[in-house]
Formats: sequence, structure tokens, C-alpha cells
Amino acid sequence: MNIVFLGPPGAGKGTQAKRITEKYGIPQISTGDMFREHLSKGTELGKKAKEYMEKGQLVPDEIVLGMVEERLKQPDCEKGFILDGFPRTVPQAEALDEMLAKWGKKIDYAIAIEVPDEELVKRLTGRRTCKNCGMMYHIIFKPPKEDNKCDACGGELYQRADDNEETVRNRLKVYHESTAPLIDYYEKKGVLHRIDGMGSIDEIFERIVKVLG
Ligand SMILES: [Zn+2]
Repeated sequence: MNIVFLGPPGAGKGTQAKRITEKYGIPQISTGDMFREHLSKGTELGKKAKEYMEKGQLVPDEIVLGMVEERLKQPDCEKGFILDGFPRTVPQAEALDEMLAKWGKKIDYAIAIEVPDEELVKRLTGRRTCKNCGMMYHIIFKPPKEDNKCDACGGELYQRADDNEETVRNRLKVYHESTAPLIDYYEKKGVLHRIDGMGSIDEIFERIVKVLG
């Protein structure tokens, strides 16, 4: 069960990936975690990646693919895996397919969680953080008891710069532009499954389980 997970920021991808991990006993592989591990262990790939990151440049595919390859060779991936945050582009998806083909494997499911942009804007711009203790709130989904005041410490709540509407809309635009070709790619391969990302965490998970069996 080799899965690629696609979905915009705010779609609840991480939560669902975790549920799949628990139900099917396959690891969730996120590029963020992989990078952190290589950097903290100071591996060759980590050192190379760091050079680019320090210059504010994109880490080349060759390095990212090296990390992915190394991770997928681990014994816990034998039964399957969920890739989250990779591939991001069609050339990366092609390279991943080539890599898996060498091992007689392939991507079995590309799960795309779909949520309308207006809903994502509502979810992402509603987040508030306590200036004092860092506790997170959401004006719709997890409001504080008193407006703009932290339940835990009484501190003032603020909206992070990343969560303002203009930044959120821009992130979504970038997401759609970069992901649309990837969606097409997996659709042509016949492995794409679009999942309605509206509803409760349980409802969305049920829809995914229906696909995975
Ligand atoms: Zn607080």
C-alpha cells in the first residue's frame, strides 16, 4: 500500500495521514521530518542540503530524492508508506516512479483531499496564538472563552503574519499552480482518488478507508 498524499494547507492532511498510519501500520514520511533528521545527524545529504538552504536556495531534486530513496529502503516501508509533501512536481513524481520500479513497486494510491478555497481561507485565517504562552485558538473552531484573551493565562491573542488573508490566498494560489500538473499525472496513471475534505475528521477518514479498503 504505497500512498502519495496531496492536499492544500488547511485540508487536514497531517491528521488523516496519522489515522492511516495507525489503522494500516505503515509509516508517514514527510519531507520536513526527513530534512530535520538529516540536518540533525549531519549526514552527507544533510550537509549538502544545508548549503543550499543557507543561501536561501531550493534544495535540488537530486538531494531530496536521495533522502526519499534512503527512507523508502528502510524495513518499515516494506508493507507500504504514505508520502506527505513529496513529490511536489511532475519530474519528482517521475523520478519516484522510476525508483519504485527498480524495486518492483509503484504508487498504488494518490489521495487528493479537496476543500474549497473559501473554506480553507476561513480555516487558516481564523487561527490565533497567545502572545504570552503560545496556546493556539481558532475564532470558529476553538474560540477562547473571552474575546481575544487566552483561557490558560489571560494573555492577548494575535494572528500570525502567515495567517493573514492575503498571505493565505497567495499560498493557495501557489499550491494550485504547482499541484494541478501532479493531479493530472496521477489521474493519467489511474491511481488518483479525490476525497471530499469537508466534514468531520471521522467522516473524511471513512471516505479514505473506503478507497484503501
Ligand atoms: Zn496564554
